[in-house]
Amino acid sequence: MKDSYNRNIHYLRISLTDRCNLRCVYCMPADIQFAPPSYLLQDDELLRLVRIATSVGFDRVRLTGGEPTVRRNIVDIVGEIAHLPGIQEIAMTTNALKLEKLAEPLAKAGVKRVNISIDTLDVERFHKITRFGKLEQVWRGILAAEHAGLYPIKLNAVVVRGYNEDDIVDLAKLTLDHAWDMRFIEMMPLGSIADFQVDSVVPVAEMKLRIEMACGKLESIDWDGHNPARPFRLKDGKGTIGFISSVTEPFCAGCDRMRLSADGRLRLCLLRDNEVDLLTPLRAGASDDELRGLMSNGVYNKPWGHGLAQNVIAETRVMSQIGG
Ligand code: SAM
Ligand code: SF4
Repeated sequence: MKDSYNRNIHYLRISLTDRCNLRCVYCMPADIQFAPPSYLLQDDELLRLVRIATSVGFDRVRLTGGEPTVRRNIVDIVGEIAHLPGIQEIAMTTNALKLEKLAEPLAKAGVKRVNISIDTLDVERFHKITRFGKLEQVWRGILAAEHAGLYPIKLNAVVVRGYNEDDIVDLAKLTLDHAWDMRFIEMMPLGSIADFQVDSVVPVAEMKLRIEMACGKLESIDWDGHNPARPFRLKDGKGTIGFISSVTEPFCAGCDRMRLSADGRLRLCLLRDNEVDLLTPLRAGASDDELRGLMSNGVYNKPWGHGLAQNVIAETRVMSQIGG
């Protein structure tokens, strides 16, 4: 399915919940209020929308949140999605806290690979950035994911001035010993915490400089242009290092994705407030054809790109309420 700019839109990021077992400072305010469960897609409603999405042309899905692994029945939901005709790949983005137990069942149910958030290797700083997380639990989750064959393992670090910019080098060095893809992400501004995010963003150019000053020149690797992380390697590194520069170097021209929020809205662009409400018509008795029509219109009307360069900041939700 093409949008009005001729981009092939086929990748759906599905937020399974707005809830989370962490409170990362770059993602949500400390006093976040979660939506009442009745406002969110129930299992049957979610599966119906995903089935309809496959008929619109979505063939890859990523389960995210909030924290996807805190959703009840997560393994069953993965199994149901895996059996939908037209689904080519299921991936997950997770903080890994629950992966020690869930990696194996998730892999058996159909998850092919995981992206895991880890912003520092320092126990204290991890606690500070997540507001209460235990780093060792994430580490055990990463090893469990590797053991379960959820490959390739991608690690995500959002870099926040004053919290973890000094940790970039240690994180990058993980790729010397492990065949993992370490990705550094520029913090994006959204919703009620946008002022903090704008003030504390660390540009990709600085991240690269820090790594090169400590570890030598980054070797660039071929890039397909669709993956938002431009890949590099340290000399003799087993894994890769990528940079996601949504703020300073947007990659909207190659965008192939849309998001389905836990409250049943099709979010057309991560960093714009344009959404199509699917939950209300679904609960009012809309047919599959009607819902398909709403989704197709949404795809066609996907905005060209975000407006950060023009100081346009999406206001209605923070990241955990969208599904990053
Ligand atoms: N809880 C899961 C996790 O943390 O991986 C999945 C949901 S989280 C919202 C998805 C991704 O968004 C994570 O990699 C997280 O680091 C990233 N993220 C959250 N807030 C962000 C922000 N303001 N800017 C850039 N990335 C952000
Ligand atoms: Fe939770 Fe993920 Fe947001 Fe951190 S980034 S608060 S783990 S949803």
